[in-house]
Amino acid sequence: MVTLLKSAEPVAASYIPNDTRRSLVGLSREQLTEILGEVGVPEKQRRMRMRQLWHWIYNRGYTEFSRMTDISKDMQRKLDEMFVIGRPEVVTEQISSDGTRKWLLRLAPDERGQRHEIETVYIPEEDRGTLCISSQVGCTLTCTFCHTGTQKLVRNLTAGEIAGQIMLARDKIKDWPADLEANPQPPSSGRYVTNVVLMGMGEPLYNFDNVKGAIDIASDGEGLSLSKRRITLSTSGVVPEIVRAGDEIGSSLAISLHGTTDEVRNKLVPLNKKYPIKELLEACRNYPGSSNARRITFEYVMLKGVNDTKEDAKRLVQLLKGIPAKVNLIPFNPWPGTAYECSEWDVIEAFAEILNNAGYASPVRTPRGRDIMAACGQLKSESQKVRASERTKAEASL
Ligand code: SAH
Ligand code: SF4
Repeated sequence: MVTLLKSAEPVAASYIPNDTRRSLVGLSREQLTEILGEVGVPEKQRRMRMRQLWHWIYNRGYTEFSRMTDISKDMQRKLDEMFVIGRPEVVTEQISSDGTRKWLLRLAPDERGQRHEIETVYIPEEDRGTLCISSQVGCTLTCTFCHTGTQKLVRNLTAGEIAGQIMLARDKIKDWPADLEANPQPPSSGRYVTNVVLMGMGEPLYNFDNVKGAIDIASDGEGLSLSKRRITLSTSGVVPEIVRAGDEIGSSLAISLHGTTDEVRNKLVPLNKKYPIKELLEACRNYPGSSNARRITFEYVMLKGVNDTKEDAKRLVQLLKGIPAKVNLIPFNPWPGTAYECSEWDVIEAFAEILNNAGYASPVRTPRGRDIMAACGQLKSESQKVRASERTKAEASL
């Protein structure tokens, strides 16, 4: 059984043992304003102080109150007594031969004192740097070709833990304003992390509020400053939440389609039984803000003998009619124990050609970071290896 543990909010501060200070990362502007009352900031000054803190935390990337020069020493001390500006702890950092970096991150203890692990991946390209972040520990869905889907233990990440992955990546890549002076060769747009995709572990639309909170923070112009166009939320097709995401989040959208008939998609993405292809595509047609300049991405994993025929490609073209779409063909990334295989290269090329001829840009996503198990669908943190007894205990006490 897949278990969704309740997320701990507010999450404990950091990984200093027994440190119970709360992290400020992940609070909205309103929450941060309110919390300043706890350290005695008079109501009239709170918004101004909040703006100062926001700048240091999200624009500069500072983690120490003592460096915040426009905040009085007395206030710095009070803040430090009660709060931290937390980051997940880096357990391991792996760098692939192609420059892809993968971090295994350990989160601060949740309400049960458990410290889960997630993975975050950075993919550098010439003109951009894409950070692939996780939204849950594991996933409650069970797509049969996905490694994450086999991970049982699940909890939602908090907004701070989601946004914290971007901040941690900026720390590690040296991508904060002050670092950039000493590390001056980012991709063309001036930063190392230029794009964020929620394509790591988890189904972001099953953690709606925290994902929304994190995207609001990531896209705040006075903070992390990533435009919502450059933040892509990938979903396996939670139709009602796609409609909500269009209204309330406004990021770019990617749909994990993977099949062109309900029969095949039911097997690959079991959620299709609840929200079949027709309903899913209707939600895409109505997704606000999509246009030829801002297309919806359809992800399609190429599985040998399962969904890779020319008929599939032609059906896909029919299905996408009327939707400003691009297709990402993803060569299947194998993982230990899977029965699926990746389609042959010439089959993938023939599939792509049919799409291209029909006017759909359909780049084949070159697998990145395969040597460090950082490619799509290979993510599965060590937390799955929590001893079975511990897991049973956690489930029993729910
Ligand atoms: N849960 C969300 C986002 C995370 S999965 C979703 O399903 O969209 C990110 C992408 O990787 C999805 O398109 C997913 O279908 C794909 N994927 C999963 N396992 C894969 C594998 N083994 N090889 C290639 N792509 C995979
Ligand atoms: Fe979950 Fe996405 Fe993997 Fe499906 S593909 S199991 S929704 S992470």
